[in-house]
Amino acid sequence: MITEITLFKHNEPLCKHTSFRVGGPADFYICPDKENFVEQAVFTLKTAQNEKIALFTLGGGANVLAADSGFRGIVLDTTAFSGCRILETKNGVELACFAGTKSDDAAEFALENSFGNIEFLAGLPGTIGGAVWMNARCYESSVSDFLGDVLIINEEFKTETIEFKANDYAYKKSPYQTRPVLILEARFRVKKENRLIIEQKMREYRADREAKGHFSWPSAGSVFKNNHDFGKPTGKIIEALGLRGTQIGGARIADWHGNFIINTGNASASDIHSLISLITIEAKKKLGITLEPEIIFLGND
Ligand SMILES: Cc1cc2nc3c(=O)[nH]c(=O)nc-3n(C[C@H](O)[C@H](O)[C@H](O)COP(=O)(O)OP(=O)(O)OC[C@H]3O[C@@H](n4cnc5c(N)ncnc54)[C@H](O)[C@@H]3O)c2cc1C
Repeated sequence: MITEITLFKHNEPLCKHTSFRVGGPADFYICPDKENFVEQAVFTLKTAQNEKIALFTLGGGANVLAADSGFRGIVLDTTAFSGCRILETKNGVELACFAGTKSDDAAEFALENSFGNIEFLAGLPGTIGGAVWMNARCYESSVSDFLGDVLIINEEFKTETIEFKANDYAYKKSPYQTRPVLILEARFRVKKENRLIIEQKMREYRADREAKGHFSWPSAGSVFKNNHDFGKPTGKIIEALGLRGTQIGGARIADWHGNFIINTGNASASDIHSLISLITIEAKKKLGITLEPEIIFLGND
């Protein structure tokens, strides 16, 4: 039955699907096509539950560190389920994006229609599903600042619309982090704006990421969350600990940004884990602070 899924692979290397470019094989890798996405996702989720197989939903893999040993279970890839449309709703005009839409494409779609608000997503790696799940934040905006209703496949394998409630969200926190559900679509509150102004901001954000070396090496962006109580961004804390440029195997703490770990070419997940441990231990030992990882760990080494 499961082989009726549009795209189904055994032992698919996760390094092909994560921005760190590390990770061993997933036992089962399922990438439903757009037309049959909901039906095939429901089938996959039900199968995983019935057969007691672990399941991980993967968007763009831009915030995931996959284990060298891979993942004993099913990885459900959402990236084919992409596309945006404009909706007239009771809350006004909204932009609806399927979960697998690249965040950058969503910003571009809004621009094409002269809608402002989500221009901060320009240049953000990954998908809308991942951005909602993570409550991604950049350029002084969080996804939750403009989010409307979210359509999910719930724990009973039914589609359900979740009304937006601001209190459900916080810095890098969303309600989906504590529910085993699949985000299908997110709606954003958008407003008509001068296209040139939106375009200018998007150009600046993309250029800023380029200038900061975001795309020079494989990474997953910031490894640790920021914490206001620590008085400065985590990147600055790691810099003050003198750890920038530290290398273990093929993984390196970026010379230009303490909170970025990069894959210099042949890093293993284990090299990256070792650097994460080193930073965590040094921050605790020298400053008495506990850094909280932002990246998501997939599989166990
Ligand atoms: C160079 C670089 C720069 C970055 N800069 C930033 C930044 O400025 N701000 C920021 O917040 N992040 C940043 N990130 C991290 C990353 O871009 C974001 O976290 C992004 O939103 C992740 O989206 P994704 O689709 O890749 O999610 P993934 O990495 O695939 O998944 C992340 C989590 O979301 C879950 N998930 C994904 N899709 C779904 C779905 N449809 N339903 C249910 N769960 C789902 C996954 O199970 C996983 O737990 C950066 C990453 C890189 C590589």
